Formats: sequence, C-alpha cells, structure tokens
Amino acid sequence: MVMHSSTLLGLLLLVATASSMALFESKAVDVPDLPAGEMDDDAQSAVLLFMKLFNPSKPKSRPQRSFQHKTCGQKVLEYTLKICDSLDIKAPPMRVAPIFQSAAHQAYQEDQMVYAAAVQEFETYQMFSRLVLSPENHKINGFVHINNQGQPDVSARRADWNSWAQPGDSIRKCVRCYKQFSEAEPDGECRFHRLGKDCCGNTAPCTTATAHVHNKTCMSEIGKFIKTPRSSGPFDGRSYKVFAIDTEMIYTEYGMEAARATVVDVHGSLVANFFIKPTGRILDLNTQYSGVTEGFLDIAVSLEEAHRILFHHINENTILVGHHLSNDLKVLKLIHTNVVDTAVLFESRGRYPSLKVLAKRHLHKDIHNEVGGHDSTEDASTCIELVYPRIHLLLSSRLALPSGSRRMRRRQPVLSW
Ligand SMILES: [Zn+2]
Ligand SMILES: [Zn+2]
Repeated sequence: MVMHSSTLLGLLLLVATASSMALFESKAVDVPDLPAGEMDDDAQSAVLLFMKLFNPSKPKSRPQRSFQHKTCGQKVLEYTLKICDSLDIKAPPMRVAPIFQSAAHQAYQEDQMVYAAAVQEFETYQMFSRLVLSPENHKINGFVHINNQGQPDVSARRADWNSWAQPGDSIRKCVRCYKQFSEAEPDGECRFHRLGKDCCGNTAPCTTATAHVHNKTCMSEIGKFIKTPRSSGPFDGRSYKVFAIDTEMIYTEYGMEAARATVVDVHGSLVANFFIKPTGRILDLNTQYSGVTEGFLDIAVSLEEAHRILFHHINENTILVGHHLSNDLKVLKLIHTNVVDTAVLFESRGRYPSLKVLAKRHLHKDIHNEVGGHDSTEDASTCIELVYPRIHLLLSSRLALPSGSRRMRRRQPVLSW
C-alpha cells in the first residue's frame, strides 16, 4: 500500500515536473546558487503546485540543489520535498535539457518552434487583414492605384487633398509664408513662423529663408511609381508579414521628398531604418518635424536602393500599416493595396485625428514632443499599436461595424502566387 502510494505520488510528481518545465526553462541558464534553505520564487511556486496536488498538511521543502548533467553538461535542478511528516519523497530531477540528446529530436523540437511561430504570424496577419482598406476605399483615400487601363492613377476627388498638381500647372503656394511662386523659381525671401500658430507668439515672422517651399507633386510623376513585387511562391514569407511604415519628408524643389524610411514589425521591433537621397535640390530639411539633420546625405541611399531594401521585406501581399499612409507611399513612389490606415480607421464624421491625438486617446502615450523632430520608429510603432484595440474589438465581437463599416471589409486575405 505504501509502495503503491509512493508510485502514485512519483507519477504525480512527474506530471507536475513536466508542467513546470516551462517555468524553469527560463531560469535554467543561470540557476543561482541559493543559500541553504532558500528557494527562488519560481521554485517556490512549483513546490506549491506539488503541494496543491497532494493536498498535504503543512508542506515543507528542503533546499534546492543544482548540478551539471553528466552527458549534456547542462544544469539540472533537483528538489527534495517533504510532503508531510510521515513521507519523504525525492522528486525526479527537473531536466533542463531534453532527455533525448539526438540531433533528430533536437531538430524536431526546433521544427515545432518554427511551426508555432509561423501559425502565430499567420493568425496575426489574418486579424490585420480584416482592417485592410477595400479597393474602393483605397482609391478614394488618395492612394495611387492601377486603373482599369492598367496605368498608375490617383483619384481625382482626392488629387488636391493629397497635394497633386496637374501637368502644366507650375504655380505653387508656399506652405510657410503662403506666397505664390513658380515651381521653377522657388528662390526669394520667405518669412514665416517655424512652428506655425504655436510658434513664438510674435506678429512678425521669426524665421527667414531664401526660398519658398511647397508640397505638390506633379501628376506626371505618377508614371514613375512602381508596384510592390509579386509573391515568389507559397514559401514567400513576405506574404504573411504585417509591418508599419513611416517616412520622414523634406522640402526640395520638387515639393516633398522622402528622406528617411522606417519599418517596424507587429511587436514594434525595428526591421529597417535608412535615409534616402532626394532627387531635387534641398530647400528645407524640415528638421523640427522630420528629425532629419545636415549630413544625412552621407549615409543616404538612392530611391532605387530604398526600394530594394523594402522589397526584401515586403511583397504585394504584405500588410502595411501607417497613418495617412498614402502620403508615405507617395513620396516612396510605391503602389501597394494591402494597407491599414489608422487615419481612416479612426476617422470620425469626416475628421481624421492626428497620430498624436490617437496615441494620447487610445494608448495614453505622448508622442511628437521631441524638440529634434519626430521619431519615425516611434510613429511607426504607434500605428501598429493603435490597431490592436480594434483587433481586440473584432475578436470580442463588440465591433458591430456601424458607421465606419464601409471603410472596413470583412474578408479573408487575398493572397496570390
Ligand atoms: Zn515664430
Ligand atoms: Zn515662403
């Protein structure tokens, strides 16, 4: 009878040991040499778990012992537990290393981890895909798209909103001093308040520059836009990725051009971050917003090189997240349809809240407070983070898809290869 109980308890301990493995694995690398009689928190939790299983009276534990495994050299933890006064049980060693040491078993375990990560990644992709703009909304929100004739095009309704100028129209309005000037001749005295209406408070402009700047792009440029690449096949990992992208822009003779691009993943980790050489003469680095400073050209890449870097991570199936993303894709001269735009996602009664307002309201986070300009990594991460509350609503079926529903589509991701 006693033997039977011991065997049973031994089995239970094995079960408990197995279920606690994960608990100890993270601690296994640096098991502290604890003073006699003391256990760390995780070890205590595990002991309490055993106690719960056995429903003992007055559980007591003896010091933890750790030693090196003879075969694999990894640390092994051993507990000797006193379950109750009448019964001493020596728990089987908690092996940090798997019992099987074969390469085949190790490969199997690695495969399992890769598989689990892939499943998680695909589930995340599917969640984000439910908030992707429909082709119609992609078009009406000013994204450059491929029209029925197979040509890059931009919706005429939003052409002005998104700062497009008709070919032949060379008159521009300075976005700093509001004077009109010819695009070909931007030089002239431009007096303005650097921080707009929140500037110095003086009536007289506090800043003077030698050229006017504008933010229009000529429609003739649209022919230079390129589509994100097609998937190379079912094993193209880019097809299941979700990234946020943020571009910092500067003023050149051709309006606003990309000077920096930052890509982060769904956890906010940096994927790519690089400077881009503009094609036109630089008129204003726009540092207080762009964060771009003198000397960036020394480490900047061409737009073609920027595309090569981006396409290493992105294909046409990749979901891109951004705030007013049509502007970022415009300066990057990219056509991409799988987009989640947080400006559209949080649009209310025709108003598009700023990223700063959304970050404060939904994430209780203060952004855009840096004196040296916006942090593109922070902006991109904030965009991704803002999507999670929406996904949570979708998951908990609390989003009844009311007024904003026309801007969201419930659909399976469209993948093509
Ligand atoms: Zn001022
Ligand atoms: Zn001006």
